[in-house]
Amino acid sequence: MKSRKLLMIPGPIEFEPSVLRAMGEVTTSHVAPNFIETFSNCLGFMKEIWKAPNGQPFILSGSGTLAMDVAIANLIEKGDNALVISTGYFGERFKDILNCYGANVTFMKSSLGSCVSLLEIEAELKRKDYKLVTMTHVDTSTGVIVDPQPIAELAKKYNVLSVLDGVCSVAGEVIEQEDWGLDIVFTGTQKAIGVPPGLALLVASKKAIETWSNRKTPVQSYYSDWKNWLPIMEAYENKKPSYFGTPAVNLIRALEVSLKIILDEGVDARVHKHNKYAHAFRKSIESIGLKIIPVSEKVASNTLSAVYYPENVDGNQFLKHVSDYGVIIAGGLLADIKTTYFRVGHMGSVNTCDIIAVLSAIEYSLLKTGYDYTQGKSLETFQKLI
Ligand code: PMP
Repeated sequence: MKSRKLLMIPGPIEFEPSVLRAMGEVTTSHVAPNFIETFSNCLGFMKEIWKAPNGQPFILSGSGTLAMDVAIANLIEKGDNALVISTGYFGERFKDILNCYGANVTFMKSSLGSCVSLLEIEAELKRKDYKLVTMTHVDTSTGVIVDPQPIAELAKKYNVLSVLDGVCSVAGEVIEQEDWGLDIVFTGTQKAIGVPPGLALLVASKKAIETWSNRKTPVQSYYSDWKNWLPIMEAYENKKPSYFGTPAVNLIRALEVSLKIILDEGVDARVHKHNKYAHAFRKSIESIGLKIIPVSEKVASNTLSAVYYPENVDGNQFLKHVSDYGVIIAGGLLADIKTTYFRVGHMGSVNTCDIIAVLSAIEYSLLKTGYDYTQGKSLETFQKLI
């Protein structure tokens, strides 16, 4: 009997067996020819997935938060003005990191489940001389998606750098870094990229690199400083050995396998698949009376769904029954409403059977907690939509 439970949280996710096998390959030297080839391939694959042929990719050992730190540490100097557009928990994190590097932060917080309007953003950009604007493409605490394109256009209009947190979106949502004029787009590996946690992936525009190289003051972080990493990325891209800090050799080999899977499927096709599953999943849970946090399907992400527990259903009991059934989903994350909702990740190599299993587990749990609904209805809805 398989004792393993199905992991359906918004990262880490279920990984492809070939990716996990690649992690178990013999560890090579970080300057061995085969590893240089692997690193170089990964940098090239990132440019394709980010749609940033002229961007500068970085692969660093660390989680998504390191990528946030790298973006801010390299671009911000003490006293710079920064605008944070927040749709949840990870907007708050941007604020904290910006404060840490001495920025003057203006925090624009959306109402729960929706985005800040473009009119408000433009009014703010007009009001003050900003160095950069940050946005969270998909905030994993609310499942809300922000459209980065018009915000990046506004940033360009006011000569402000745009930074996109794509931790819960890269390879699961539409991203056209170069066409949209985004200066930084980053992610962590454990989500739609499909590799176990441990790598921070970031692509910087030419303008971002220029801004960094024209700094008046040194970067206030040793590990995050591009001064240390840019020559390494350039060396690997040119297939030359190099060293600053030992790269996570096995994870990077797994990254090569996963990025290749994404590119073989086609980024657009993969995003479309995410969209199809997300939409069908939400219609299915709505068919048994559950409600999501995003105010409309238009602002609901492809990669996860944040769903309120029905009234009178205890969250801890609900999650326990889902787990007993063999599926792991996540509880709430946003402090004020943490106990009122749960989150289901549906990204990466997710398939029809995974979604059926999670719907079935949700129905089982609702049955156990005494919630009144038509048994089998969410499964029926999903089968009709998929
Ligand atoms: N931003 C977003 C949108 C995230 O979802 C996460 C992780 N859940 C992070 C940043 C931070 O990433 P990590 O936990 O890998 O540091």
